[in-house]
Amino acid sequence: MYDRRDKDQGPGKAAPKPPASTAGGAAEAEAVVFVCVTCEVPLTGPLTRLPAVPELPCYEWWNAEEPGPSPSTVPSGFYAIETEPYGAPLVVSEVSAQAMPRYGTISNEHGQYLVSQGPRGNIVVNPDDAHGLELQHVSSACCGATPTGGMNQLCACGTFVATLCSDCCCPYELHLSADRVRAVGP
Ligand SMILES: [Zn+2]
Ligand SMILES: [Zn+2]
Repeated sequence: MYDRRDKDQGPGKAAPKPPASTAGGAAEAEAVVFVCVTCEVPLTGPLTRLPAVPELPCYEWWNAEEPGPSPSTVPSGFYAIETEPYGAPLVVSEVSAQAMPRYGTISNEHGQYLVSQGPRGNIVVNPDDAHGLELQHVSSACCGATPTGGMNQLCACGTFVATLCSDCCCPYELHLSADRVRAVGP
């Protein structure tokens, strides 16, 4: 004889749990594409955020056989947020300070140091990861572009969207303007 106790399913089946939408970790590593806010054209490939702008790669540009850009500060496929002021305008500083992050010092004709009072929050990317941008020089340079005059990269729609730094003696970086571009999901 069997003592058959029919086990029912209990009071209501457990509803399937909705997937946790805020499962940290994986979400942070999701790549985004930056588009122009004016015309929505993609300006970069998919990029993953770094926690901070990396240290400047060690590179002896003065020993380089040919003038040209240094190795990119940000590796290909990544971006980082610059927390310090960057680009124009440059203002006189009473103390010795580099003009902007990773850039070195600049002084005016009176020997006074100049420092950036430009916007914070630029999105720093490898210039080789951007496309569709046209360089319009706004400050003098010997073989590339310099950021001291402000934004120098035009979107196809004619809007300045970024500042390229690519002269041989400078860090090789493209700074997307935080209020001229927008991150969209993959
Ligand atoms: Zn545009
Ligand atoms: Zn140069």
